[in-house]
Amino acid sequence: MKTRTRKLCLALTLCATAAFFFSCRRQPKWQGDEKLIILGIDGMDPQLLKRFMAEGKMPNFSGLAARGSFRLLTTSIPPQSPVAWSNLITGMNAGGHGIFDFIHRDPHTLQPYFSASRVEPPKHGIHLGSWVIPLGGGSAEQLRQGKAFWEILDDYGVPNSIFRMPSNFPPVQAKGNTLSGMGTPDLRGSYGTFSFYTDDPLAAVGTVEGGQIIPVQVEGSQVNAKLIGPDNTFRKGSPPAVEPFTVAIDPLEAVAKISVQDNKFVLREGEWSDWIHVEFQLIPFIGNVRGICRFYLKQAHPRFQLYVSPINIDPADPALPISTPKNYSGELVEETGDFYTQGISEDTKALSAGVLDDKEYLQQAKTVLAEHRQIFDAEFPKFRRGVFFFYFSSLDLNSHMFWRLIDPQHPEYDATLATQYGSALPEFYQQIDQVLGEVLQHLDDRTTLLVLSDHGFAPYNRSFNLNTWLLNNGYITLRSAPNPDQSQAFANVDWSRTRAYGLGLNGLYLNLRGREREGMVEPGAPADALMGEIQDKLLCVRDPQNDVAAVTRVDRASEVYQGPYARQGPDLLVGYNRGYRAGWQTILGNFPAEIFENNTNPWSGDHCIDYTLVPGVLLSNRPIDATTPALTDIAPTIFAQFGIPQPDGMMGHPVFSSTRAQVK
Ligand SMILES: [Zn+2]
Repeated sequence: MKTRTRKLCLALTLCATAAFFFSCRRQPKWQGDEKLIILGIDGMDPQLLKRFMAEGKMPNFSGLAARGSFRLLTTSIPPQSPVAWSNLITGMNAGGHGIFDFIHRDPHTLQPYFSASRVEPPKHGIHLGSWVIPLGGGSAEQLRQGKAFWEILDDYGVPNSIFRMPSNFPPVQAKGNTLSGMGTPDLRGSYGTFSFYTDDPLAAVGTVEGGQIIPVQVEGSQVNAKLIGPDNTFRKGSPPAVEPFTVAIDPLEAVAKISVQDNKFVLREGEWSDWIHVEFQLIPFIGNVRGICRFYLKQAHPRFQLYVSPINIDPADPALPISTPKNYSGELVEETGDFYTQGISEDTKALSAGVLDDKEYLQQAKTVLAEHRQIFDAEFPKFRRGVFFFYFSSLDLNSHMFWRLIDPQHPEYDATLATQYGSALPEFYQQIDQVLGEVLQHLDDRTTLLVLSDHGFAPYNRSFNLNTWLLNNGYITLRSAPNPDQSQAFANVDWSRTRAYGLGLNGLYLNLRGREREGMVEPGAPADALMGEIQDKLLCVRDPQNDVAAVTRVDRASEVYQGPYARQGPDLLVGYNRGYRAGWQTILGNFPAEIFENNTNPWSGDHCIDYTLVPGVLLSNRPIDATTPALTDIAPTIFAQFGIPQPDGMMGHPVFSSTRAQVK
């Protein structure tokens, strides 16, 4: 209904626009031949980019910056990818699109959930985590609100292709080719669950973050194990569907032969398989789902160690919608071969868990970029007119993982590893420079190019445990002493004596009467006063290790968000200083003993901090007139290019003062 009202408003605005000469009843169709190319480079950092440009590593970026323009791009509040790309997609901030963080909370249960997922009521279907395959009438549901810019381009007949845009799973209905990106689950409905099979009695078996370590026996040089698929709701208790596989280990050589369904292949130690197709049987002949995965033989002897990637939705026969048109992902497979469909494809969790080492993770991360480049090389030459958007994840994930090897100040910096893998991140930047080189060859005076990132990057040296700080400062009361092994969010919290709590990477919520289940802070003046008090105190927090301010900015949602969802997110947005981030446990509602901790995770760079400290980049072949462009200016810029009036509720302004493409 809301969408329909918005459409109507748009149509009325349109009637008043003299530029369109068709009758109001018919949507005017764009007839031009102009082109707008947008390269979306997640996490490309202006400081690193300038450094690599100065070192001569990025000749195409240097050329573009010299001939066109290079600006900092104001990121979203908070500067997290799902929020930031939603700002770009809708031209609105979180108040307009409703994505505030990777993690949201239900004020009634006070339990966290991933912001891209929705828990469906139990239906007789196939559950992939929170999603339901539409066998039982349910379906995957997009949680981002607001209209995507390409839906409006479709309304005006501007052709467009949108590749791997984050926060677009399942992809919104579109006329062009679109492929979903960050937020797309694996076949188990998670954001990526690897499996690691080992007979090492010392391995810590069980569930680890992002994966499972599964004990196996080697008997007569053979291993029998199972691949774990989606939960099978057709069976009592909804156990996960499994498919057996066997591994025959050569008794002398470091080689193993793996058999799974119809696939038989040999891996040497240290070798990755191609994509392997697996079908999970749920109800025979009716409810089967297909996935793809890659095997890596880490060790054959003396201990057996086999890594299996998260089982990705098979793009040739997707269990959930991942593209428009529906068969487009399958067409891509025919052209380029199989590819990772899981939103965050780089297996950072396996590196953090110690299952893959730097070398092995790097091989995997390079495969991801190679696949993206293959798709780019197949699709970009087909682009003729309208809008072409392509997203690259590599700089973001690899800056997260390899910051510790480019920054000698980082507590996890390791000089030996740095000589081996310190060049990995600059080399990923150079690959993006090569992609830009391919694009620059095809620019003409009808083409506008935007190269942009959603945010920059910063070191993540120290964790700040916001909930522990709130506890120690009397804003949270526990029923009993915090249990460090407790992983359930806010276990033990006495809500009747708790005034505020932290959840997600930057969110701080008041325990507000009438909103939270046991809210006890009165809305209005008392809530305002409490927010002011917490803001002031947080800005005074110093790290005892070095007397540095841990928090440099605290924003009130009511002051920075506009739109219908402005009140659904956190009340305060905590902006950390460079070098700091909310700790791993506090973001999920737990209470580590110390307020500050060293970050020892290989995930050593981050950007979920004070948004003014991690701007993104915006480069163009045309002079950018805006001096401080923001992500929310990109959608208005796209519309201005094609003479489309800016829809109601959209913030921001075109970054160019004149439009190039005119309605003809
Ligand atoms: Zn990131």
